[in-house]
Amino acid sequence: MSWTLIVHVHTKHSPDSLTEPRALVRHAVALGVDVLAVTDHNTWRGAVDALGAVAGAGLPLRVIVASEVHTDQGDVIGLFLQDDLRPARAPAFCDAVHEQGGLVVLPHPYKWHRLDETLLSRVDLVEVYNARTAKADNARAAELARQRRLPELAGPDAHRLGELDLARVEFDGPLPAEQAGLKEALLRSPRRFHTRTGSIWNEWRSQATLLMRRPNGRLAWNLARGAVRRVMKPGEYALG
Ligand SMILES: [Zn+2]
Repeated sequence: MSWTLIVHVHTKHSPDSLTEPRALVRHAVALGVDVLAVTDHNTWRGAVDALGAVAGAGLPLRVIVASEVHTDQGDVIGLFLQDDLRPARAPAFCDAVHEQGGLVVLPHPYKWHRLDETLLSRVDLVEVYNARTAKADNARAAELARQRRLPELAGPDAHRLGELDLARVEFDGPLPAEQAGLKEALLRSPRRFHTRTGSIWNEWRSQATLLMRRPNGRLAWNLARGAVRRVMKPGEYALG
């Protein structure tokens, strides 16, 4: 007996995604997923909308209310939120998540993060596979989780529906009925990852979405340069 989780997913409430929460939950159900953790940048609105869409349509899907917040030490995800949390310093954000009874996930730890004991001592789970992260950086994340003896997650970091199925986590045992059981399972149940390698253009596409929604010259330049580099040297962007 097992159940599946997709964690680390964005909606239109993130500036770099256009995904409708209602379409997202329907797609997750079509993929046969049991639990979906929606993690918009700096807001829980996508997760709250997803929860409403599930309830409204009576869909067989559990939604974990979450967000991925910018901190001074890089992005940090809070799962099982009771309250919307604003960008903050990393330790303060982690403490606020714990005060709500939530769990702290460190996503893609080697993508612009400043890792120190203050942060790492507050982390509950590490994302050791991120579908938008280079293979070497995912391997370093797995090594970090092993060293710290922290439970591991795999996430698609999906900004479009087509990216949703790039990573899912299968847990042994029956799907817990209560939220407390879900938390316990995330921390302790044996798990397997099912991953697929994403396109090197996925991150570029969501940056293009961001540019469309919030035009700015510097981002336009970076996108143009990023396009040329991806065409000329695709190997430098290899994911895994
Ligand atoms: Zn993300």
